Amino acid sequence: MTLLRDISITNSNGIILSTKKRKVFLDPEKPPDSGLSFVSHAHLDHIHSSFDGKRVIASAETVRLAKERGFNINNYSEEDEDIETFDAGHILGSRAILIDNSIFYTGDFALRPRAFLGSGKATKCDVLIMETTFGSPEYVFPPVAKVLEQTNRLIAEMFSKGVPVVLMGYPLGKSQILSHYFSFWDPVYVCESIAKMNSAHTELGVSLGTNFKKYEEAKEKGLLNRKPWVLLSPLMSGRSRFVKELKEEYGAVSVAFSGWACRPGYKNAMNVDYAFPISDHCDFNELLQLVKQCSPKKVITVHGQNETFATFLQKQGYDAQSSSALHTSMTDFIHED
Ligand SMILES: [Zn+2]
Repeated sequence: MTLLRDISITNSNGIILSTKKRKVFLDPEKPPDSGLSFVSHAHLDHIHSSFDGKRVIASAETVRLAKERGFNINNYSEEDEDIETFDAGHILGSRAILIDNSIFYTGDFALRPRAFLGSGKATKCDVLIMETTFGSPEYVFPPVAKVLEQTNRLIAEMFSKGVPVVLMGYPLGKSQILSHYFSFWDPVYVCESIAKMNSAHTELGVSLGTNFKKYEEAKEKGLLNRKPWVLLSPLMSGRSRFVKELKEEYGAVSVAFSGWACRPGYKNAMNVDYAFPISDHCDFNELLQLVKQCSPKKVITVHGQNETFATFLQKQGYDAQSSSALHTSMTDFIHED
């Protein structure tokens, strides 16, 4: 039986778990005065401030990538007594956490191997607190190999016409996956924010290819007038000044990579020329697979389609609840022994 006493899902400071032994703050927005924090990974919606001197569970890679974003975690360890972490497969260094051999919190999680990232590792637990970003049946991603084939075919077609291609994804995570997959094109330019994260990955032992040239320098030297080329850029709308200029000055086509590209309206909403679904999260079927692997007594869904996924699980016979259905604090929802 679990030792879980109380769980609070707060608007202000993430998920707070109280067990008989300790209080654990899961991806808190600000460091708590006391207690232990878990920082699952270095995305900015999971780390908002420095943790100077505060006790943190995080991977060495997360600590390094957080530093690149200006946040210090200087009192950390990768495990603790009765705390085990697991590769979450989401971005480099992302971890899920198992507390007291009973409560498993996934953070952001991906089961599907991509580029240099392996499959996230799940474990049996009593209580599963899981992210459900894509927890609705319309989100089923095609195989990564199929998306790569489509993208390479598109780049080849554009190159044959001398047309540059802008590949867009989040600067940390998606852009390194894209760097890994598309570095063999020549030339490949990268925006500064992505170049920084690529360097941090190289430092951490992840090889992304060496064929990258900085976009800003190339622009200054007038190299962009020599077409075609590939540019790796942070994901932004086709209406942004940056993308508009690339289209007007160089006739570039824009390609967005996101799990949201499964939605028929995504391409138009983003105002991009192409949109392909490569995601760093589980799709609907993989979320279900994750639940089966954990075989929990209780599931709490957080983020994204949490209500839809909790309702689906209930229909499958699971004791499931979405975080938005929880009160600010829920005490003793599982009997202690
Ligand atoms: Zn994330």
